[in-house]
Amino acid sequence: MSEPRAFVEVNLAAIAANIQTIASETDSQILAVVKADAYGHGLIEVARAAVESGASWLGTALLEEALQLRAAGITAPVLAWLTPPGDDFDTALRERIDLSISSLAILEGILAAGERTGITPRVHIEVDTGMTRGGFLEEWDPFLIRLREVKDSLHIVGFWTHFARADEPDSDFTEQQLILFNVLLNALQSEGIYPEIVHTANSAGALAHKSSHKQMVRIGIAMYGLTPDITTMGSSEKLGLIPAMSIKAKLVNVKSVPAFSRVGYGGVGVTDMDTKLGIVCMGYSDGLPRRADSTAGVSYKGELARLVGRVSMDQCVVDLGPDSQALAGEYVTVIGEDGFSADDWASAAGTINYEITTRIASRLPRIYLR
Ligand SMILES: *Cc1c(COP(=O)(O)O)cnc(C)c1O
Repeated sequence: MSEPRAFVEVNLAAIAANIQTIASETDSQILAVVKADAYGHGLIEVARAAVESGASWLGTALLEEALQLRAAGITAPVLAWLTPPGDDFDTALRERIDLSISSLAILEGILAAGERTGITPRVHIEVDTGMTRGGFLEEWDPFLIRLREVKDSLHIVGFWTHFARADEPDSDFTEQQLILFNVLLNALQSEGIYPEIVHTANSAGALAHKSSHKQMVRIGIAMYGLTPDITTMGSSEKLGLIPAMSIKAKLVNVKSVPAFSRVGYGGVGVTDMDTKLGIVCMGYSDGLPRRADSTAGVSYKGELARLVGRVSMDQCVVDLGPDSQALAGEYVTVIGEDGFSADDWASAAGTINYEITTRIASRLPRIYLR
């Protein structure tokens, strides 16, 4: 194959370093969150690198993601936490996937699969302590009653919750969630049930709330070297994290245009002087946000070239400056150390770094650096 017109470079050494940075701050086990194709970095490669670098668990949202890990020969413990009733729990049990129980319907589905397969399900009970999304809330009391009848048919490995505002170090909301969490844990223990692994922290919890570490921390965004929130927690650099993803794309063309040229759909971009424009072979179908403004762009040999006009489906236009030596066919950096970060793109488009990396299209090849 010829050189790709655009590609994603994933630095697995950065992922290893970020895991080690987190590990040096906690005594807890690390669960590496690899949902959504490892936040766009590539499920299997990242999962392998994470396990080699000290993560003892892997976490996915979907069961199909967990099964892909097994199909790739990965044997580490895997927890899948977003499994609607009707999912193929039989296969999950046969593949030794730990499942989350967050409702009575899911409990019954998992129990039935345990009976059919003769395998005792390994489960983690999720409680809703303030996110008002996943986990037991109004069904908690009926759940405890049902659990009395069926607890011997389950291996209750974990008890967990998820934080809504752990990325706000000045808010006491996380501490309030932890207080409620402990009340619910005590209620479970009064039933004679003592899960081995209690877990609550996401990246922000692990970085900013030591009291949330428990037996395991679930690390997503920080493993990829990105900050959970650039305004409240500071940049990757400030947190000692190394971004793992960079993106390069080719210039399709370089053209000289006069001042006041209107660029792209709607003519909303206007050149402010005679300049050279670079036509970059990457657009919104590749995951660049269409609404990004000119505070983002690309870099060419370390020189920033800002977006002009709207991002198109497969391409975008940047202002290289009148003296640029850039040539058609050369690569520019769309995300990378010497240019704009995922956080720069996020701020240019009114979103968060999570959304930037997870949306980078699968049609861009991933190239792994070790
Ligand atoms: C996505 C997710 C995480 C990781 O969150 P980060 O902010 O990326 O660290 C942890 N736990 C659960 C349940 C999640 O869904």
